[in-house]
Amino acid sequence: MSRPLPSRTTILIVGAGPVGISLAIALSKQGVNDFIIVDKLEHTANTSRAFSIHAATMEALDTIGVADTLVIRCTAAHCTHLCSRSGATLFTIDFYDALQKCSKFPYSYIVPQNITEEVLTRRLNELGVEVWRGEKYRVVGMKGTKGSEDTATVEFSGGETVEAKYIIGADGARSVIRQISGISFNDPRPSKSSSQMIVADVHFAQPLPSLLPPCHENEMCLIPSATGFMLFEPFPSEGSDLKGPLIRIATAIPPEMGTPPDHPDLEYWQAAWDKFGPYKESKIAEIVTSARFRTHSAVVDRYFTRFPGDTGKNDDGVRKGAAVFLIGDAAHVHPPAGGQGLNLGIRDAIYLAPVLVSHIRSTTDDDTSLLAYANLRRQRALVVIGLANGMLDSVLLVGDKIVQMLPDTMGIRRVGEEVQRGLLEWGLWGLGRLGWVRRKAGYSLSGLGHR
Ligand SMILES: Cc1cc2nc3c(=O)[nH]c(=O)nc-3n(C[C@H](O)[C@H](O)[C@H](O)COP(=O)(O)OP(=O)(O)OC[C@H]3O[C@@H](n4cnc5c(N)ncnc54)[C@H](O)[C@@H]3O)c2cc1C
Repeated sequence: MSRPLPSRTTILIVGAGPVGISLAIALSKQGVNDFIIVDKLEHTANTSRAFSIHAATMEALDTIGVADTLVIRCTAAHCTHLCSRSGATLFTIDFYDALQKCSKFPYSYIVPQNITEEVLTRRLNELGVEVWRGEKYRVVGMKGTKGSEDTATVEFSGGETVEAKYIIGADGARSVIRQISGISFNDPRPSKSSSQMIVADVHFAQPLPSLLPPCHENEMCLIPSATGFMLFEPFPSEGSDLKGPLIRIATAIPPEMGTPPDHPDLEYWQAAWDKFGPYKESKIAEIVTSARFRTHSAVVDRYFTRFPGDTGKNDDGVRKGAAVFLIGDAAHVHPPAGGQGLNLGIRDAIYLAPVLVSHIRSTTDDDTSLLAYANLRRQRALVVIGLANGMLDSVLLVGDKIVQMLPDTMGIRRVGEEVQRGLLEWGLWGLGRLGWVRRKAGYSLSGLGHR
Protein backbone atom coordinates (compact mmCIF):
# COMPACT_ATOMS: atom_id res chain seq x y z
CA MET A 1 0.00 0.00 0.00
CA SER A 2 1.46 3.38 -0.92
CA ARG A 3 -1.17 5.58 0.77
CA PRO A 4 -0.27 6.91 4.22
CA LEU A 5 -1.14 4.96 7.33
CA PRO A 6 -4.10 6.30 9.31
CA SER A 7 -2.70 8.36 12.17
CA ARG A 8 -5.10 6.75 14.68
CA THR A 9 -6.75 3.38 15.18
CA THR A 10 -8.36 1.46 17.99
CA ILE A 11 -6.27 -1.71 17.54
CA LEU A 12 -2.83 -1.98 15.96
CA ILE A 13 -1.67 -5.52 15.19
CA VAL A 14 2.10 -5.67 14.72
CA GLY A 15 3.04 -8.74 12.69
CA ALA A 16 1.08 -10.49 9.96
CA GLY A 17 2.36 -14.00 10.52
CA PRO A 18 -0.28 -16.68 11.00
CA VAL A 19 -1.06 -15.41 14.50
CA GLY A 20 -1.55 -11.74 13.61
CA ILE A 21 -3.67 -12.66 10.59
CA SER A 22 -5.83 -15.01 12.69
CA LEU A 23 -6.54 -12.15 15.09
CA ALA A 24 -7.40 -9.79 12.24
CA ILE A 25 -9.87 -12.32 10.81
CA ALA A 26 -11.41 -12.96 14.22
CA LEU A 27 -11.87 -9.21 14.83
CA SER A 28 -13.48 -8.73 11.42
CA LYS A 29 -15.80 -11.65 12.08
CA GLN A 30 -16.84 -9.92 15.33
CA GLY A 31 -17.73 -6.79 13.38
CA VAL A 32 -14.72 -4.74 14.49
CA ASN A 33 -13.07 -2.94 11.60
CA ASP A 34 -11.19 -0.16 13.34
CA PHE A 35 -7.84 -1.91 13.30
CA ILE A 36 -4.63 -1.89 11.28
CA ILE A 37 -2.34 -4.85 10.68
CA VAL A 38 1.26 -4.18 9.64
CA ASP A 39 4.25 -6.32 8.73
CA LYS A 40 7.82 -5.40 7.90
CA LEU A 41 7.98 -8.06 5.15
CA GLU A 42 6.79 -7.28 1.64
CA HIS A 43 5.48 -10.85 1.19
CA THR A 44 4.47 -13.70 3.48
CA ALA A 45 7.24 -16.19 4.19
CA ASN A 46 7.18 -19.10 1.73
CA THR A 47 8.95 -21.65 3.91
CA SER A 48 6.99 -24.45 5.50
CA ARG A 49 8.16 -24.29 9.18
CA ALA A 50 5.24 -25.67 11.26
CA PHE A 51 3.36 -28.47 9.58
CA SER A 52 0.60 -29.76 11.84
CA ILE A 53 -2.69 -28.25 12.89
CA HIS A 54 -4.28 -30.06 15.80
CA ALA A 55 -7.96 -30.59 16.62
CA ALA A 56 -8.33 -27.73 19.13
CA THR A 57 -6.82 -25.28 16.66
CA MET A 58 -8.96 -26.51 13.78
CA GLU A 59 -12.03 -26.03 16.01
CA ALA A 60 -10.90 -22.47 16.75
CA LEU A 61 -10.26 -21.83 13.04
CA ASP A 62 -13.76 -23.15 12.36
CA THR A 63 -15.20 -20.28 14.40
CA ILE A 64 -13.56 -17.77 12.03
CA GLY A 65 -14.57 -19.57 8.84
CA VAL A 66 -11.16 -20.95 7.90
CA ALA A 67 -11.29 -24.65 8.83
CA ASP A 68 -13.24 -25.97 5.83
CA THR A 69 -10.88 -24.35 3.32
CA LEU A 70 -7.80 -25.41 5.24
CA VAL A 71 -8.87 -29.03 5.79
CA ILE A 72 -9.01 -29.71 2.06
CA ARG A 73 -5.36 -28.60 1.75
CA CYS A 74 -4.26 -31.01 4.53
CA THR A 75 -3.54 -34.67 4.95
CA ALA A 76 -5.68 -35.95 7.82
CA ALA A 77 -3.35 -38.19 9.83
CA HIS A 78 -4.93 -40.85 12.06
CA CYS A 79 -1.76 -41.23 14.05
CA THR A 80 1.96 -40.60 14.37
CA HIS A 81 4.26 -43.62 14.25
CA LEU A 82 7.30 -44.04 16.45
CA CYS A 83 9.41 -46.51 14.50
CA SER A 84 12.58 -48.49 14.92
CA ARG A 85 15.39 -47.92 12.44
CA SER A 86 14.34 -51.14 10.75
CA GLY A 87 10.95 -49.58 10.05
CA ALA A 88 8.79 -51.46 12.57
CA THR A 89 6.13 -49.41 14.35
CA LEU A 90 6.89 -49.42 18.09
CA PHE A 91 4.24 -47.00 19.31
CA THR A 92 1.51 -44.96 17.71
CA ILE A 93 0.16 -41.65 18.97
CA ASP A 94 -3.50 -42.28 18.20
CA PHE A 95 -5.32 -39.11 17.24
CA TYR A 96 -8.39 -40.57 15.59
CA ASP A 97 -9.12 -43.18 18.26
CA ALA A 98 -8.78 -40.52 20.97
CA LEU A 99 -10.73 -37.76 19.23
CA GLN A 100 -13.43 -39.34 17.08
CA LYS A 101 -16.08 -38.99 19.79
CA CYS A 102 -15.14 -35.54 21.04
CA SER A 103 -14.15 -33.42 18.05
CA LYS A 104 -15.44 -32.52 14.63
CA PHE A 105 -11.77 -32.57 13.60
CA PRO A 106 -10.45 -35.90 14.92
CA TYR A 107 -7.07 -35.95 13.17
CA SER A 108 -3.69 -34.30 13.16
CA TYR A 109 -3.86 -32.16 10.02
CA ILE A 110 -0.61 -32.07 8.07
CA VAL A 111 -0.09 -28.90 6.09
CA PRO A 112 3.01 -26.75 5.52
CA GLN A 113 2.84 -23.39 7.30
CA ASN A 114 3.07 -21.41 4.06
CA ILE A 115 -0.19 -23.04 2.91
CA THR A 116 -1.85 -22.23 6.26
CA GLU A 117 -0.71 -18.61 5.86
CA GLU A 118 -1.97 -18.52 2.27
CA VAL A 119 -5.43 -19.75 3.35
CA LEU A 120 -5.56 -17.27 6.25
CA THR A 121 -4.46 -14.36 4.07
CA ARG A 122 -7.08 -15.16 1.44
CA ARG A 123 -9.78 -15.24 4.12
CA LEU A 124 -8.61 -11.89 5.49
CA ASN A 125 -8.71 -10.36 2.01
CA GLU A 126 -12.23 -11.75 1.46
CA LEU A 127 -13.25 -9.82 4.56
CA GLY A 128 -11.92 -6.67 2.91
CA VAL A 129 -8.76 -6.29 5.00
CA GLU A 130 -5.29 -5.74 3.55
CA VAL A 131 -2.03 -5.97 5.48
CA TRP A 132 0.21 -2.86 5.39
CA ARG A 133 3.38 -4.58 4.25
CA GLY A 134 6.95 -3.52 3.66
CA GLU A 135 10.09 -2.33 5.38
CA LYS A 136 8.60 1.11 6.04
CA TYR A 137 6.01 -0.55 8.30
CA ARG A 138 8.66 -2.04 10.56
CA VAL A 139 7.91 -0.92 14.11
CA VAL A 140 10.93 0.82 15.58
CA GLY A 141 9.55 2.59 18.63
CA MET A 142 6.60 3.18 20.92
CA LYS A 143 5.87 5.85 23.49
CA GLY A 144 2.96 7.11 25.54
CA THR A 145 0.84 9.61 23.60
CA LYS A 146 1.03 13.15 24.86
CA GLY A 147 -2.30 14.27 26.27
CA SER A 148 -3.88 10.82 26.13
CA GLU A 149 -4.66 8.60 29.06
CA ASP A 150 -5.11 5.32 27.22
CA THR A 151 -3.17 5.30 23.95
CA ALA A 152 0.40 4.88 22.82
CA THR A 153 2.07 6.13 19.66
CA VAL A 154 3.87 3.54 17.58
CA GLU A 155 6.72 4.65 15.32
CA PHE A 156 7.60 3.04 11.99
CA SER A 157 10.91 2.94 10.15
CA GLY A 158 9.34 4.91 7.28
CA GLY A 159 8.79 7.82 9.68
CA GLU A 160 5.02 7.48 10.10
CA THR A 161 3.34 7.08 13.48
CA VAL A 162 0.05 5.52 14.58
CA GLU A 163 -1.74 6.22 17.83
CA ALA A 164 -3.60 3.15 19.15
CA LYS A 165 -5.56 2.14 22.20
CA TYR A 166 -4.76 -1.58 21.95
CA ILE A 167 -1.40 -2.69 20.59
CA ILE A 168 -0.96 -6.37 19.81
CA GLY A 169 2.56 -7.73 19.50
CA ALA A 170 2.22 -10.68 17.10
CA ASP A 171 5.72 -9.93 15.88
CA GLY A 172 7.42 -13.25 16.48
CA ALA A 173 10.06 -14.58 18.83
CA ARG A 174 12.24 -11.44 18.67
CA SER A 175 9.27 -9.19 19.36
CA VAL A 176 10.07 -5.49 19.36
CA ILE A 177 6.79 -4.76 21.13
CA ARG A 178 7.85 -7.10 23.94
CA GLN A 179 11.24 -5.43 24.22
CA ILE A 180 9.87 -1.89 24.24
CA SER A 181 7.22 -2.84 26.80
CA GLY A 182 9.90 -4.18 29.11
CA ILE A 183 8.27 -7.60 29.41
CA SER A 184 10.73 -10.35 30.29
CA PHE A 185 10.94 -13.59 28.32
CA ASN A 186 12.52 -16.50 30.17
CA ASP A 187 12.72 -20.27 30.13
CA PRO A 188 10.46 -21.58 32.91
CA ARG A 189 11.90 -25.08 32.78
CA PRO A 190 15.26 -25.62 31.09
CA SER A 191 15.20 -28.81 29.00
CA LYS A 192 17.88 -31.46 29.40
CA SER A 193 17.50 -32.55 25.81
CA SER A 194 19.72 -31.87 22.86
CA SER A 195 19.38 -28.22 22.00
CA GLN A 196 20.48 -28.04 18.39
CA MET A 197 18.31 -29.27 15.58
CA ILE A 198 18.33 -29.24 11.82
CA VAL A 199 15.23 -29.26 9.68
CA ALA A 200 14.76 -29.57 5.92
CA ASP A 201 12.15 -30.10 3.26
CA VAL A 202 13.52 -32.58 0.74
CA HIS A 203 12.75 -34.92 -2.12
CA PHE A 204 14.02 -38.50 -1.89
CA ALA A 205 15.29 -40.57 -4.79
CA GLN A 206 13.10 -43.51 -3.73
CA PRO A 207 9.30 -43.67 -3.72
CA LEU A 208 7.68 -43.32 -0.31
CA PRO A 209 6.64 -46.86 0.66
CA SER A 210 10.17 -48.15 0.31
CA LEU A 211 11.50 -45.53 2.75
CA LEU A 212 9.55 -46.42 5.87
CA PRO A 213 6.60 -48.82 5.84
CA PRO A 214 4.00 -46.67 7.69
CA CYS A 215 4.57 -43.71 5.42
CA HIS A 216 2.43 -44.91 2.54
CA GLU A 217 -0.44 -43.45 4.56
CA ASN A 218 1.31 -40.07 4.73
CA GLU A 219 1.59 -40.22 8.48
CA MET A 220 4.47 -38.85 10.47
CA CYS A 221 7.24 -41.20 11.53
CA LEU A 222 9.65 -40.52 14.32
CA ILE A 223 12.68 -42.72 14.87
CA PRO A 224 13.66 -42.11 18.50
CA SER A 225 17.11 -42.62 19.93
CA ALA A 226 18.78 -41.87 23.23
CA THR A 227 20.31 -38.71 21.78
CA GLY A 228 17.30 -37.40 19.88
CA PHE A 229 15.29 -38.57 16.89
CA MET A 230 14.84 -38.47 13.15
CA LEU A 231 11.49 -37.12 12.05
CA PHE A 232 9.99 -37.92 8.67
CA GLU A 233 6.76 -36.34 7.41
CA PRO A 234 5.48 -36.41 3.83
CA PHE A 235 3.51 -33.28 2.96
CA PRO A 236 0.23 -33.47 1.06
CA SER A 237 1.04 -33.39 -2.65
CA GLU A 238 -0.77 -30.77 -4.68
CA GLY A 239 -0.96 -31.92 -8.29
CA SER A 240 1.56 -34.25 -9.87
CA ASP A 241 5.14 -33.66 -8.88
CA LEU A 242 7.65 -35.68 -10.84
CA LYS A 243 10.10 -35.40 -7.96
CA GLY A 244 7.68 -37.16 -5.61
CA PRO A 245 6.23 -35.62 -2.46
CA LEU A 246 7.99 -32.98 -0.46
CA ILE A 247 9.13 -34.54 2.80
CA ARG A 248 9.98 -32.76 6.06
CA ILE A 249 12.91 -34.31 7.88
CA ALA A 250 14.32 -33.06 11.16
CA THR A 251 16.81 -34.34 13.65
CA ALA A 252 18.60 -33.39 16.83
CA ILE A 253 22.36 -33.08 16.45
CA PRO A 254 24.21 -34.21 19.59
CA PRO A 255 26.94 -31.81 20.83
CA GLU A 256 29.73 -34.30 20.04
CA MET A 257 28.88 -33.87 16.33
CA GLY A 258 29.76 -30.17 16.56
CA THR A 259 27.66 -27.24 15.42
CA PRO A 260 25.78 -27.86 12.18
CA PRO A 261 26.02 -25.27 9.39
CA ASP A 262 23.29 -22.59 9.24
CA HIS A 263 21.86 -24.25 6.13
CA PRO A 264 23.07 -27.87 6.05
CA ASP A 265 23.71 -29.09 2.51
CA LEU A 266 22.81 -32.38 0.87
CA GLU A 267 26.00 -34.09 1.98
CA TYR A 268 25.48 -33.09 5.64
CA TRP A 269 21.87 -34.21 5.52
CA GLN A 270 22.67 -37.54 3.89
CA ALA A 271 25.19 -38.27 6.67
CA ALA A 272 22.62 -37.35 9.36
CA TRP A 273 19.95 -39.43 7.64
CA ASP A 274 22.29 -42.44 7.43
CA LYS A 275 23.20 -42.05 11.13
CA PHE A 276 19.73 -41.50 12.60
CA GLY A 277 17.29 -42.54 9.87
CA PRO A 278 16.10 -45.98 8.75
CA TYR A 279 18.67 -48.74 8.23
CA LYS A 280 17.38 -49.30 4.73
CA GLU A 281 19.59 -47.35 2.34
CA SER A 282 17.86 -44.31 0.91
CA LYS A 283 19.16 -41.25 -0.88
CA ILE A 284 18.08 -37.65 -0.53
CA ALA A 285 17.77 -36.32 -4.08
CA GLU A 286 17.19 -32.61 -3.44
CA ILE A 287 17.12 -30.18 -0.55
CA VAL A 288 14.41 -27.54 -1.00
CA THR A 289 14.92 -25.69 2.30
CA SER A 290 17.31 -26.43 5.12
CA ALA A 291 17.96 -24.70 8.42
CA ARG A 292 19.56 -25.11 11.81
CA PHE A 293 17.93 -23.88 14.98
CA ARG A 294 18.29 -24.21 18.71
CA THR A 295 15.48 -25.68 20.73
CA HIS A 296 14.72 -23.65 23.80
CA SER A 297 11.67 -22.49 25.68
CA ALA A 298 10.64 -19.09 26.91
CA VAL A 299 7.44 -17.45 28.05
CA VAL A 300 6.64 -13.84 28.83
CA ASP A 301 6.08 -12.87 32.45
CA ARG A 302 2.86 -11.11 31.33
CA TYR A 303 0.74 -11.43 28.21
CA PHE A 304 -0.81 -8.05 28.94
CA THR A 305 0.50 -4.77 30.24
CA ARG A 306 -0.33 -1.09 30.17
CA PHE A 307 2.23 1.01 28.33
CA PRO A 308 3.82 3.19 29.63
CA GLY A 309 1.90 1.92 32.69
CA ASP A 310 2.61 2.54 36.33
CA THR A 311 6.34 2.57 35.95
CA GLY A 312 6.34 4.85 32.93
CA LYS A 313 4.99 8.31 32.55
CA ASN A 314 3.45 10.17 29.64
CA ASP A 315 4.90 13.55 28.78
CA ASP A 316 2.01 15.25 30.56
CA GLY A 317 2.20 13.02 33.62
CA VAL A 318 -0.81 10.79 32.86
CA ARG A 319 0.02 7.29 34.02
CA LYS A 320 -2.28 4.67 32.52
CA GLY A 321 -1.35 4.04 28.90
CA ALA A 322 -2.35 1.74 26.05
CA ALA A 323 -3.28 -1.93 26.47
CA VAL A 324 -0.43 -4.01 25.07
CA PHE A 325 -0.77 -7.76 24.42
CA LEU A 326 1.75 -10.32 23.25
CA ILE A 327 0.54 -13.39 21.38
CA GLY A 328 2.06 -16.26 19.40
CA ASP A 329 5.84 -16.58 19.26
CA ALA A 330 6.13 -13.10 20.76
CA ALA A 331 4.75 -14.60 23.98
CA HIS A 332 6.09 -18.16 23.95
CA VAL A 333 8.61 -20.37 22.18
CA HIS A 334 9.36 -24.02 22.81
CA PRO A 335 10.92 -27.08 21.19
CA PRO A 336 9.00 -28.28 18.12
CA ALA A 337 8.20 -31.68 19.68
CA GLY A 338 4.51 -32.34 19.18
CA GLY A 339 4.10 -29.38 16.79
CA GLN A 340 2.52 -27.05 19.34
CA GLY A 341 3.94 -23.54 18.72
CA LEU A 342 1.83 -22.41 15.82
CA ASN A 343 -1.24 -24.12 17.27
CA LEU A 344 -1.00 -22.33 20.59
CA GLY A 345 -0.36 -19.01 18.86
CA ILE A 346 -3.42 -19.26 16.61
CA ARG A 347 -5.57 -20.05 19.64
CA ASP A 348 -4.06 -17.07 21.56
CA ALA A 349 -5.22 -14.89 18.68
CA ILE A 350 -8.71 -16.27 18.11
CA TYR A 351 -9.54 -16.22 21.83
CA LEU A 352 -8.22 -12.67 22.23
CA ALA A 353 -10.69 -11.21 19.72
CA PRO A 354 -13.90 -11.51 21.82
CA VAL A 355 -12.05 -10.24 24.90
CA LEU A 356 -10.91 -7.12 23.02
CA VAL A 357 -14.31 -6.59 21.44
CA SER A 358 -16.19 -6.71 24.73
CA HIS A 359 -13.60 -4.43 26.36
CA ILE A 360 -13.89 -1.91 23.55
CA ARG A 361 -17.67 -1.96 23.80
CA SER A 362 -17.83 -1.78 27.60
CA THR A 363 -18.33 1.52 29.34
CA THR A 364 -15.88 0.86 32.19
CA ASP A 365 -12.10 1.01 31.99
CA ASP A 366 -11.74 -2.03 34.21
CA ASP A 367 -8.95 -4.39 33.09
CA THR A 368 -10.26 -7.52 34.85
CA SER A 369 -11.26 -9.37 31.66
CA LEU A 370 -7.96 -8.49 29.97
CA LEU A 371 -5.98 -9.79 32.93
CA ALA A 372 -8.08 -12.97 33.09
CA TYR A 373 -7.35 -13.66 29.41
CA ALA A 374 -3.65 -12.94 29.93
CA ASN A 375 -3.34 -15.21 32.95
CA LEU A 376 -5.17 -18.06 31.24
CA ARG A 377 -3.06 -17.87 28.08
CA ARG A 378 0.14 -17.83 30.12
CA GLN A 379 -1.00 -20.96 31.95
CA ARG A 380 -1.71 -22.58 28.58
CA ALA A 381 1.78 -21.68 27.38
CA LEU A 382 3.31 -23.25 30.48
CA VAL A 383 1.35 -26.46 29.87
CA VAL A 384 2.55 -26.60 26.27
CA ILE A 385 6.16 -25.88 27.25
CA GLY A 386 5.94 -28.71 29.78
CA LEU A 387 4.49 -31.02 27.13
CA ALA A 388 7.08 -30.20 24.46
CA ASN A 389 10.04 -30.37 26.84
CA GLY A 390 8.66 -33.49 28.50
CA MET A 391 8.49 -35.28 25.16
CA LEU A 392 12.11 -34.48 24.36
CA ASP A 393 13.39 -35.12 27.88
CA SER A 394 11.59 -38.43 28.30
CA VAL A 395 13.23 -39.86 25.20
CA LEU A 396 16.63 -38.89 26.55
CA LEU A 397 16.01 -39.82 30.18
CA VAL A 398 14.45 -43.23 29.53
CA GLY A 399 17.57 -44.23 27.64
CA ASP A 400 19.95 -42.70 30.18
CA LYS A 401 18.23 -44.13 33.22
CA ILE A 402 18.15 -47.64 31.85
CA VAL A 403 21.82 -47.49 30.97
CA GLN A 404 22.67 -46.14 34.45
CA MET A 405 21.01 -49.23 35.95
CA LEU A 406 23.41 -51.55 34.12
CA PRO A 407 26.46 -52.86 36.06
CA ASP A 408 29.66 -50.98 35.30
CA THR A 409 31.70 -54.11 34.66
CA MET A 410 33.12 -55.62 31.48
CA GLY A 411 32.30 -52.40 29.67
CA ILE A 412 28.58 -53.06 29.85
CA ARG A 413 27.82 -49.42 30.54
CA ARG A 414 29.72 -48.51 27.45
CA VAL A 415 27.50 -50.52 25.21
CA GLY A 416 26.79 -47.27 23.46
CA GLU A 417 24.04 -45.65 21.61
CA GLU A 418 22.77 -48.70 19.75
CA VAL A 419 22.01 -50.60 22.98
CA GLN A 420 20.35 -47.53 24.47
CA ARG A 421 18.31 -47.31 21.34
CA GLY A 422 17.37 -50.99 21.62
CA LEU A 423 16.22 -50.52 25.21
CA LEU A 424 14.30 -47.42 24.31
CA GLU A 425 12.61 -49.24 21.45
CA TRP A 426 11.74 -52.11 23.75
CA GLY A 427 10.20 -49.70 26.28
CA LEU A 428 8.19 -47.94 23.59
CA TRP A 429 7.02 -51.23 22.14
CA GLY A 430 5.78 -52.24 25.61
CA LEU A 431 3.93 -48.94 26.08
CA GLY A 432 2.54 -49.26 22.57
CA ARG A 433 0.57 -52.34 23.64
CA LEU A 434 -1.54 -50.11 25.91
CA GLY A 435 -4.36 -48.51 23.95
CA TRP A 436 -5.14 -45.92 26.63
CA VAL A 437 -1.53 -44.69 26.59
CA ARG A 438 -1.67 -44.28 22.80
CA ARG A 439 -4.98 -42.41 23.01
CA LYS A 440 -3.80 -40.24 25.92
CA ALA A 441 -0.79 -39.17 23.86
CA GLY A 442 -3.10 -38.26 20.95
CA TYR A 443 -5.47 -36.33 23.20
CA SER A 444 -2.61 -34.40 24.87
CA LEU A 445 -1.20 -33.25 21.54
CA SER A 446 -4.65 -32.36 20.17
CA GLY A 447 -4.80 -29.36 22.52
CA LEU A 448 -8.41 -30.13 23.47
CA GLY A 449 -7.42 -30.36 27.13
CA HIS A 450 -5.63 -26.99 27.10
CA ARG A 451 -7.29 -24.91 24.42
C1 LIG B 1 12.52 -23.90 10.87
C2 LIG B 1 11.28 -23.81 11.72
C3 LIG B 1 10.52 -24.95 11.96
C4 LIG B 1 9.37 -24.88 12.75
N1 LIG B 1 8.64 -26.01 12.96
C5 LIG B 1 7.52 -25.94 13.71
C6 LIG B 1 6.70 -27.09 13.91
O1 LIG B 1 6.99 -28.17 13.42
N2 LIG B 1 5.56 -26.96 14.66
C7 LIG B 1 5.18 -25.75 15.22
O2 LIG B 1 4.12 -25.67 15.87
N3 LIG B 1 5.95 -24.66 15.05
C8 LIG B 1 7.09 -24.72 14.31
N4 LIG B 1 7.82 -23.61 14.11
C9 LIG B 1 7.38 -22.39 14.77
C10 LIG B 1 6.27 -21.70 14.00
O3 LIG B 1 6.76 -21.43 12.72
C11 LIG B 1 5.87 -20.46 14.78
O4 LIG B 1 5.31 -20.88 16.03
C12 LIG B 1 4.88 -19.56 14.05
O5 LIG B 1 5.41 -19.04 12.86
C13 LIG B 1 4.50 -18.39 14.97
O6 LIG B 1 3.70 -17.48 14.27
P1 LIG B 1 3.68 -15.94 14.68
O7 LIG B 1 2.68 -15.31 13.77
O8 LIG B 1 3.52 -15.82 16.15
O9 LIG B 1 5.15 -15.41 14.39
P2 LIG B 1 5.92 -15.30 13.01
O10 LIG B 1 5.52 -16.37 12.08
O11 LIG B 1 7.36 -15.16 13.37
O12 LIG B 1 5.39 -13.92 12.39
C14 LIG B 1 5.76 -12.68 12.96
C15 LIG B 1 5.58 -11.60 11.91
O13 LIG B 1 5.90 -10.35 12.51
C16 LIG B 1 6.64 -9.58 11.58
N5 LIG B 1 7.45 -8.63 12.35
C17 LIG B 1 8.44 -8.93 13.21
N6 LIG B 1 8.95 -7.81 13.75
C18 LIG B 1 8.26 -6.77 13.22
C19 LIG B 1 8.34 -5.36 13.38
N7 LIG B 1 9.24 -4.78 14.20
N8 LIG B 1 7.49 -4.58 12.68
C20 LIG B 1 6.57 -5.15 11.84
N9 LIG B 1 6.47 -6.49 11.64
C21 LIG B 1 7.30 -7.29 12.33
C22 LIG B 1 7.47 -10.60 10.83
O14 LIG B 1 7.86 -10.12 9.55
C23 LIG B 1 6.53 -11.79 10.72
O15 LIG B 1 5.78 -11.78 9.53
C24 LIG B 1 8.98 -23.64 13.33
C25 LIG B 1 9.74 -22.50 13.08
C26 LIG B 1 10.88 -22.57 12.29
C27 LIG B 1 11.69 -21.31 12.03
